[in-house]
Amino acid sequence: MSRLLTASDLKDQKLVDELKVRIERETSCRCLLDEMLSKHTSWRVGGPARLYAYPSSESALNRLIQFCNSVGLAFFTIGYGTNLLVSDDGFAGCVIDLAEGAREIVVDGESLTAGGGAWLGEVVRIAAENGLSGMEKLAGIPGGVGGGMSMNAGAFGMAISDRLIDVTVVGSDGVSVRLEKDQIGFGYRSAPAFVGKTITRANFLMLKRRKSQVIRAVEDTITDRFRRNVMTLPSAGSVFKNPVGGFSAKMVEAVGGKGMKEGGVEVSLLHANFIVNTGSGSSADVVRLIRRLRGLVHDQFGVLLEMEVRTLGFKGSLFEDN
Ligand SMILES: Cc1cc2nc3c(=O)[nH]c(=O)nc-3n(C[C@H](O)[C@H](O)[C@H](O)COP(=O)(O)OP(=O)(O)OC[C@H]3O[C@@H](n4cnc5c(N)ncnc54)[C@H](O)[C@@H]3O)c2cc1C
Repeated sequence: MSRLLTASDLKDQKLVDELKVRIERETSCRCLLDEMLSKHTSWRVGGPARLYAYPSSESALNRLIQFCNSVGLAFFTIGYGTNLLVSDDGFAGCVIDLAEGAREIVVDGESLTAGGGAWLGEVVRIAAENGLSGMEKLAGIPGGVGGGMSMNAGAFGMAISDRLIDVTVVGSDGVSVRLEKDQIGFGYRSAPAFVGKTITRANFLMLKRRKSQVIRAVEDTITDRFRRNVMTLPSAGSVFKNPVGGFSAKMVEAVGGKGMKEGGVEVSLLHANFIVNTGSGSSADVVRLIRRLRGLVHDQFGVLLEMEVRTLGFKGSLFEDN
């Protein structure tokens, strides 16, 4: 692999123009320049990705990753950006978006296969329409199948990995491999085996139930979710993971976090683990508020909260000045 191109290398417009042309020609991925990631994150914050590519198939993705390696271009796979904090400086590399190439959802008996770029809500809906149970409690979780897998997203005691059989991933070398569920090491909002890999497909074995029963369970979940969560203002869902034996939201509330503001963002009054963008918030505002809350919780409870939200484009730790 070549030396990794730095942010300063990628300031060279001629080089970046050339990379875009080569990506389109050699990998057949549509490629954008300086695409604002605030358009691709549910927080509506984040600077530009120097290159932003849409593979239209798995083989295009294989070629794209191999190309990035061959020229030393850092890459990052984004889903729907609903659990992602991107720096205001953006990302000096190539963001890979599967939204145009891996969205198929196929049902065959009790088996359900979904592309990594499929919208999770659509998967839950199609499962319900086919009387397939096992994802009802995931209804209303925004984001895609790849993002959900990478996060092991879940709610109300159910996780996306519960009914999983296997997944297809493209490794950091650009080669596709299949991983069985027990090779992934799923944990609470974690899936270690996916680090550096791009998930292109997931196979689930669902449980056949009465269609009306599954649809009703999905509707109940959505009603419950709207009652508990903050679904109207831009956010990334829960910011912190729950520490062992505790609840981040309760801790943040106990330190007076609810309603706390930094610039254009504030802690939701409805859910203390949500930071909402009230319109003009920046990524730097979110970081300042996260640090403040984490410090207050540490001072009062002696617990250092861990981030549930993933980050992109920051130098070093989010919790220290760099
Ligand atoms: C209002 C709201 C409510 C939420 N409620 C919940 C909830 O109840 N439960 C819950 O678990 N989460 C919840 N979330 C968080 C979020 O919806 C989930 O984590 C979701 O699964 C993220 O999917 P995404 O496609 O948006 O991923 P992104 O945010 O785009 O990415 C998240 C991570 O997944 C990786 N990733 C994305 N796609 C792929 C891929 N194809 N291959 C490999 N890696 C990939 C990214 O690199 C990144 O590390 C909520 C968010 C919001 C905004």
